[in-house]
Amino acid sequence: MRIDLHTHSNVSDGTQPPAELMAAAAAAGLDVVALTDHDSTDGWADARTAARALGIGLLPGMEVSCKTSQGISVHLLSYLHDPDHPGLLEEINKAKDARRTRAERMVERLAEDYPLNWDDVSAHLAPGATVGRPHIADALVAAGIVADRNEAFANILTSHSRYFVSHYAADPVLAVELVREAGGVPVFAHPVASARGRVVSDQTFHDMIDAGLLGVEIDHRDNPPEGRAQLRRLAARRGLIITGSSDYHGAGKPNLLGENLTSPEMLERILDAATGSAPYLP
Ligand code: AMP
Ligand code: FE
Ligand code: FE
Ligand code: ZN
Repeated sequence: MRIDLHTHSNVSDGTQPPAELMAAAAAAGLDVVALTDHDSTDGWADARTAARALGIGLLPGMEVSCKTSQGISVHLLSYLHDPDHPGLLEEINKAKDARRTRAERMVERLAEDYPLNWDDVSAHLAPGATVGRPHIADALVAAGIVADRNEAFANILTSHSRYFVSHYAADPVLAVELVREAGGVPVFAHPVASARGRVVSDQTFHDMIDAGLLGVEIDHRDNPPEGRAQLRRLAARRGLIITGSSDYHGAGKPNLLGENLTSPEMLERILDAATGSAPYLP
């Protein structure tokens, strides 16, 4: 069984519509794939229809944007939650709106130095999509200012950049509680991805576990080897589910579908813990 539990479609910052992503997953020889767009479940219906047609398993999911009181960004994967749970819906919609305002502010700042406006960014946004820096990166690429998203993130769009603007996101402890209330399975995404920015303290980690965190994403290209070993020890001590995933973003990132996998035993634990919505398993 080849199981990849973290992918993005153009419902957020991936480059393919959900159905196309599912077809790519089938072509990559995956048996089960989770669709985990940032702060949105809008791709679930199309992904499910495609999964059924392709005979591939779908775990509906989401990647919730979070921020600690110290301003550290945390991404929380949620699997199989109720997409209509009011509390969780309120938080992701707040983050989604804040992302949009924040991107507009970043474009205003960028426009002082580069020939760029909001229409250039909109051109790379599917209707209703969750806006992120990758869409601004796409506009910078189209304008010939950088070669690809990666080059944009290397300086113009980093969190240290003068053009960077932060946005509202739920505290990770609240997000864990809401995902559990919604019957979902919360898994901490790429927890030690230090190249992306500061990572959380042990205290925050334990607070999240005490609040109901059920798993950690260990095999992810952005988690360095030492960090993975630490995560394995923590997972063993606290009885956490461990996952491995690609974090595929279509053409937006070099990450390939199936480059990291989750074991069938761990998938089983996720299915057993979830009560919010149903997977599609052929
Ligand atoms: P934001 O959500 O606006 O904070 O932007 C962060 C998003 O950008 C993450 O979801 C990543 O998938 C994406 N990202 C971060 N670094 C890179 C990179 N070097 N190349 C392409 N995408 C990236
Ligand atoms: Fe992303
Ligand atoms: Fe993430
Ligand atoms: Zn992701």
